[in-house]
Amino acid sequence: MASSRQKVILGLLLFLAGGTLVGWIYERPVVGALIAALLALVWQVRQLLAFDRALRTGNFDKFRYGEGIWQRIFSRFAFERDRANRYRRENTQLLREIHKSTNAMPDGAVVLDRANQIIVCNRAAKNLAGLKRKKDRGQRVDNILRSPDLTMLLRNNDSKQSIDIASPVKDGAWLNCRVVPYGPSEKLLLLRDVTEQMTLNKMRRDFVANASHELRSPLTVIAGYLDALAEAADIPSTWAKPVRQMQEQARRMSLIVSELLELSRLEGAGKAGTDELVDVGGLLAAASHMVQGRGDMPEILVDPQSAARLRGDRGEIESVITNLLSNAVRHTPPEGKVTLTWRATTKGADLVVSDTGEGIAAEHVPRLTERFFRVDKGRARTDGGVGLGLAIVKHVLSRHDAELRVTSTVGAGSEFVCHFPAERLSVEPPIPLARAGSDP
Ligand code: ADP
Repeated sequence: MASSRQKVILGLLLFLAGGTLVGWIYERPVVGALIAALLALVWQVRQLLAFDRALRTGNFDKFRYGEGIWQRIFSRFAFERDRANRYRRENTQLLREIHKSTNAMPDGAVVLDRANQIIVCNRAAKNLAGLKRKKDRGQRVDNILRSPDLTMLLRNNDSKQSIDIASPVKDGAWLNCRVVPYGPSEKLLLLRDVTEQMTLNKMRRDFVANASHELRSPLTVIAGYLDALAEAADIPSTWAKPVRQMQEQARRMSLIVSELLELSRLEGAGKAGTDELVDVGGLLAAASHMVQGRGDMPEILVDPQSAARLRGDRGEIESVITNLLSNAVRHTPPEGKVTLTWRATTKGADLVVSDTGEGIAAEHVPRLTERFFRVDKGRARTDGGVGLGLAIVKHVLSRHDAELRVTSTVGAGSEFVCHFPAERLSVEPPIPLARAGSDP
């Protein structure tokens, strides 16, 4: 059976042959063939114009029935049109379902473009943050939710980071914000109501702070009487040891109470100011002088590689150094070495405390900054540690936009790196040279 293409060509040739034959009867075969070709062309153009009209009006009656190339074009066209309609219906349904499910989500979801402009948001984003689907479309989200932390979060585009901001629509409500990048340049801003969590955290903080505060005065009285008892000449000798032990425990309790109070203060405080310029190299040298020469101690080396100043709180940075150095000294044998380094690059600066001490097993490293965590609980009670030092370090660093990185090998030593971002640094400008001819 001839294919449709062959049929079309055959029909055209027959038509031309018929024209030629009629022309030949009138002794003009070429003219007959030309007229037949012209007629075939005119018919095709008419069909083309009729198809164009049918496309515009949607009335394909002329092409619906019969045979020939134009009917075949129509049936192919009708098939593709039906398929496209079916896809459109399915996609619309799918979109509706997606819309319904994102609206049912308790968390806010905002789709942002490359310039952080809102493309679309769900109902929870409206309830939690007051974003309006139509009115706010195309607006920069950080112009509506005004928070420097959110601006930073959007700039960093790191899905592991999250921040808490006050809800602009509900008094006392807090939102946790997280940015998830997707597609070539779009991102999803997720908003979660963390008001209850924040309230519970605050209650816990307040409780610890109040309890510590209340314990402080009775502890001072007890410690005072114990000191007096220890110095009294007329107490029986059998009491001397218990009194000494009680003095030691009272001192330990005072230390726990003051460290808990410090932790509560750090947790409640915002970011550390940037006005004060801290000479970290100088602090490292001072801290090493303070501990050196106290008997059986490892060697302490200070290596200030940079003159960069740190923008932050001097007292808090001092406490970071003291805590890390005291840990290193307590966990390193006298023949070992502790090194204090301050180094800076364009990416930020590192305050490093490394030692050649006992090291920490890998499974304990992630838990080091938990409150009251100690690797060797029995030993910690005798070596003066209370298990709050690294928790304080972590909070101070977070107030300085910094993070603690710990690497350690059992039996070889540990390295505690406090990494500060470049924005927290100030490099001292070079001293200008005296201009020629100027006064001395
Ligand atoms: P502590 O007051 O007990 O020192 P920290 O929070 O400062 O409490 O430290 C928690 C635990 O981490 C310590 O008890 C110790 O087991 C471990 N640790 C800290 N620094 C070092 C170090 N340089 N070498 C070995 N272990 C360490």
